[in-house]
Amino acid sequence: MPRTPVRRVSLKACKNCGALVPKEATVCPVCGSTTFVDDWEGVMILLDNSALAEKLKTSKHGVFAIRVSGSYVFK
Ligand SMILES: [Zn+2]
Repeated sequence: MPRTPVRRVSLKACKNCGALVPKEATVCPVCGSTTFVDDWEGVMILLDNSALAEKLKTSKHGVFAIRVSGSYVFK
């Protein structure tokens, strides 16, 4: 059975809040910022009311980078 080739997902990170959005996006769906960077590391998925979100003291939910331009998104 042929394997489906794994395609690298093309994402960029919002410089303001760390949200990961597709390369085509122009406005961050989380904070409305229009500044994005390609220099990001790690992926964190925050669900609404998740224990992780509570621990991070954030009400944000969605897919976020863990580090953007070398600094941690969630302190
Ligand atoms: Zn943002």
